[in-house]
Amino acid sequence: MRSVYVNGEWVDEDKATVSVFDRGFLMADGVYEVTTVIDGKLIDLPGHAARLFRSLAELDMAAPVDAPTLEALHREAVARNGIVFGRVYLQVTRGNPGDRDFAFPDPATTKPTFVLFTQVTGSPEDNADAKRGLSVITVPDIRWGRRDIKTVQLLYPAMGKMMAKAANADDAWFVEDGLVTEGTSNNAWIVKGGRIVTRALSHDILHGITRAAVMRYAAEAQMEVEERSFTVEEAKAADEAFITSASAFVTPVISIDGVALGTGKPGPVASRLREIYIDESRKAAR
Ligand code: PMP
Repeated sequence: MRSVYVNGEWVDEDKATVSVFDRGFLMADGVYEVTTVIDGKLIDLPGHAARLFRSLAELDMAAPVDAPTLEALHREAVARNGIVFGRVYLQVTRGNPGDRDFAFPDPATTKPTFVLFTQVTGSPEDNADAKRGLSVITVPDIRWGRRDIKTVQLLYPAMGKMMAKAANADDAWFVEDGLVTEGTSNNAWIVKGGRIVTRALSHDILHGITRAAVMRYAAEAQMEVEERSFTVEEAKAADEAFITSASAFVTPVISIDGVALGTGKPGPVASRLREIYIDESRKAAR
């Protein structure tokens, strides 16, 4: 049974509850973060913490704790649950004002709801998706205009995953004005003629912590990265493609809308970047 943190207390998961008046439940008025655990250590918690504080600030939401306390809670979540390979999820909502009302409650009287829980995964080396490569379909991006804020408003991404499943694919890439924005829960990348391409940062996509790390590692390995938008047609004609996220690391994509990329197997650039990312993350893990 998992030990879950809820508003200052560690409780067994079957005792972990929040109010029906919680704004996260009523209005998706909340944000979250996911930090990966490898070898019992946290991958880039400072990056995830910085994005959390930015998400909160963009929504005029009070931070429930400061950065050192956030770190201590992550470590406690890992220790209490004996996580070797897995994830720490955290979620902050605008709290429970005691009734339903659109107006934001007074932060002096309504404290944020703050939850942490863990999930167990396999080791990064032992990953069937990475070995096989993913098939993706493209679907219209009908999400709101502030995708840079990591909100818990995940209904359309969940629908995207269901559309992929119905099409016998692994995941979906969102498309707006003919251009790929990102994956349902990851950033999207293509490789053509040795050049690596991923969409530039804006309000249109989540500023992936893994994306930032991969940009750094690719530059260090003298790989050429272009930050620009690309069309679905360009992606289908690419040599390779891949996704990045804290959960997927770097995972190759081998087909888009049923069109096989390159050899139809995970490509050398994606495979190499996955290796570098996992090696470097392991070394930097704290
Ligand atoms: N885009 C979206 C829409 C996501 O949900 C995620 C995963 N949180 C990402 C990109 C990747 O971000 P990160 O590398 O920080 O996990």
